[in-house]
Amino acid sequence: MTFSVDVLTEAVAWRREIHAYPEMAYAEFRTSAMIARLLTSFGLSVTTGIGGTGVVGTLINGQGPTIGLRADIDALPIDELGTQDWCSTVPGVMHACGHDGHTAILLATAKQLSENRNFHGTVHFIFQPAEEGFAGARAMIEDGLFRDFAMEGVYSLHNWPGLPFGHVGVSEGAMMASLDTFDIVLTGRGCHAAMPESGTDTILLATDLIGALNRIVSRRISPLANAVVSVTQIHAGDAYNVIPETAVIRGTVRCLQEDVRLEVRRHIEQLVAQSAQAQGVKGVLDYQVGYPVTMNHPTEAASVRKAAISALGESKVYWNMAPSMASEDFAFMLESCKGAYFWLGSKVDDAPSTHYPLHSPYYDFNDDIIAPGISLWVALVENLLRK
Ligand SMILES: [Zn+2]
Ligand SMILES: [Zn+2]
Repeated sequence: MTFSVDVLTEAVAWRREIHAYPEMAYAEFRTSAMIARLLTSFGLSVTTGIGGTGVVGTLINGQGPTIGLRADIDALPIDELGTQDWCSTVPGVMHACGHDGHTAILLATAKQLSENRNFHGTVHFIFQPAEEGFAGARAMIEDGLFRDFAMEGVYSLHNWPGLPFGHVGVSEGAMMASLDTFDIVLTGRGCHAAMPESGTDTILLATDLIGALNRIVSRRISPLANAVVSVTQIHAGDAYNVIPETAVIRGTVRCLQEDVRLEVRRHIEQLVAQSAQAQGVKGVLDYQVGYPVTMNHPTEAASVRKAAISALGESKVYWNMAPSMASEDFAFMLESCKGAYFWLGSKVDDAPSTHYPLHSPYYDFNDDIIAPGISLWVALVENLLRK
């Protein structure tokens, strides 16, 4: 598919403007106002304030099916270290995950489809806040996204520096892992470091417990299941000569199957209870359930594959590739509606600026994937909402 130079030039300008003015979860006021203004100028009907700062633009072209295309719009709490002209103007906040690019691609798709209506049906363009850890997808759903904008399928694109430029990765099952976090507080009896027999050494007990937590994946669940338990923090003590009263352990659990996720959680609960009981300390577990597994629906994943083949060519599509153990709150949308999530590769071998991973302070969205991104969205709409 070819686009007018204007659409691509505009999309790059929008992307860089959003990049220069990044906004964190639920504070995307400037960004959502810009999105609403542009969608209105394309002739779409626009609803704002869904799930806080979420925006939906609706394009109707006669009778036919209804689908939703979703972009995330929030930035991260990172100090940008790049030197581009369009660098973040907000200290400590940057678009390091390419949500600026997803937004620009979806805006350009809305413009393209509003001008070339080669489809019959309705497209909802969903601009979602707070993907980075604050469940903006769930907030939009709780605010009536799928009730007020009923749709047969919902789709989402994420740029992926791990894939070669212009290639698409999509699977008919899990794409991303679930994400839970935990806090464990062990409270024993503090004492003089020279007389350990008079207290309860919570630091030693904490290290035993960390060892046991690390053995959940290797010894407690099936080798055929996919899970990771990472202890990422341990806090205890502040003197050379005192055995502290408390130790705090924090970490994260990621799984690709919901039943495995429940099993891992049960093992953590048991280990904390057992370790406390055996050692005479108090163990308190606070287990925070986060994003579910991002689980594509097979028919909708196949639709993405078909659109990617028609837009980009069969050699550019990785079908049923290995999932990522990172996570994504589009998972909530896939629990409420059929749909699929896919990656669009952005890495160019001889362009080192495209090699930075997501969430790097040097990361910058590769504007060259805007064109294949629009092509893919347009192909998906024209295939599913065939005239
Ligand atoms: Zn991210
Ligand atoms: Zn992201």
